[in-house]
Amino acid sequence: MQKAKAIELEIAVVDGVELNGTWNRMFEPRVISEYDLSVLEEITNIPGAESLGYCYQCGKCTAVCPVDSVGDYSPRKIFRRTQLGISLLDSPDLWLCTTCRNCLRVCPKEVNMIDIMPAVREQAVLEGKAPAELLTAFENTARYGNPIGESARKRADWTKTAGVPVPVMSQKKAPVDVLWFVECYPAYHPRGKEASAALARIFAALGVDFGILGTEEKCAGDSQRMAGERGLFEMLAEHNIKMLSKYRFNEIVVTDPHAYNAFLHEYPKLGGEWPVRHYTQFLAEKLAGVNFVKGIKKRITFHDPCYLGRHNGEYEAPRSLLRALPDVELVEMGHCKQTSYCCGGGGGGMWLDGFTRDYASERLSERRVKEAVEYGAEILAVSCPYEVPRFEDAVKSTGHDGQIQVMDIAELMAYCMGLNEGLAIS
Ligand code: SF4
Ligand code: SF4
Repeated sequence: MQKAKAIELEIAVVDGVELNGTWNRMFEPRVISEYDLSVLEEITNIPGAESLGYCYQCGKCTAVCPVDSVGDYSPRKIFRRTQLGISLLDSPDLWLCTTCRNCLRVCPKEVNMIDIMPAVREQAVLEGKAPAELLTAFENTARYGNPIGESARKRADWTKTAGVPVPVMSQKKAPVDVLWFVECYPAYHPRGKEASAALARIFAALGVDFGILGTEEKCAGDSQRMAGERGLFEMLAEHNIKMLSKYRFNEIVVTDPHAYNAFLHEYPKLGGEWPVRHYTQFLAEKLAGVNFVKGIKKRITFHDPCYLGRHNGEYEAPRSLLRALPDVELVEMGHCKQTSYCCGGGGGGMWLDGFTRDYASERLSERRVKEAVEYGAEILAVSCPYEVPRFEDAVKSTGHDGQIQVMDIAELMAYCMGLNEGLAIS
């Protein structure tokens, strides 16, 4: 836009006030934007992504975004780059957000990456622009019902090592109090299976009347939804709702905060509405009846999962379990509860480690393990199945092997109940 030649008077009088030459230029028509906003509008026109346009560049989000602490990233920067004509659809920025929700906590304009990311990613997936490793996770989920690519038939194999009966609903043929939705990493990953076995033993010791879906269960699909595969999510949800609807139970207990999020907020929209609790919430209520027979003389810190804490407001249940363990010293890291750091696994990040390596100085899980070590923790306790593998890798890659162990709360609790003799706490 051509700017009209400035007219500057030595002195101008406006409403009886004398303005000198420098100031009276303010009264000419001025160019206030030199940007072509069509690229920004292309993004904000996508249903769900409108709030990106609300950003007024205050920068509060940059200070709290975990990805910015290892790279060059935040909603503020995404807005600015889009405003300058770099389409989010073609930018690596689209795949770096872990949907941890920390920016939304502080943003005065409610720029909502939790809505923006899945909406724009869905468009990118439709246009064939998703990173290859993410597509592999999607394909595995569609084919096998889990993102790891394990056989659907082996989904209940972990129960053989639990050491207690784990009833499968199709064989039990009777109502149960608790339908335990196990999820993929707890069913297939070696460390996830150990935590599942520990939880099964706790349930048995507490006399919980429970059952699992076994091979009738498929991935809850919430991370695939956040990564842009809404169609796949709906397919999985419809399957799980159909299977769950065959049985009678009083509530669902989930191992995975991502499944918890799906059952709380997304499945009801598709007709699947049941009372649901995370396993830490369920066990916290049963603490009075727990018989601890030994302690853990260690300094333990807890990593809040984004989808249990910031997304769904549960900070106390996991801590109440850890505080109840005999001899444990529970310490909080600087980033805890609402301000907790992110493990990097949410929003599809679990399957994007190769992609993100090019845009980060270190992995978020490595940054988090370093923080736990700085606070003198000997055990990093977790309650999300993504975290044990992520943090155990990070312990090795940061050179802290032998200094800190990563344990699911169920493993620690079972140990103190005398139900996890195989667990080595060094
Ligand atoms: S906190 Fe919100 S308004 Fe401020 S820069 Fe970030 S996205 Fe923009
Ligand atoms: S949701 Fe988390 S990772 Fe994504 S932009 Fe916000 S603070 Fe950064």
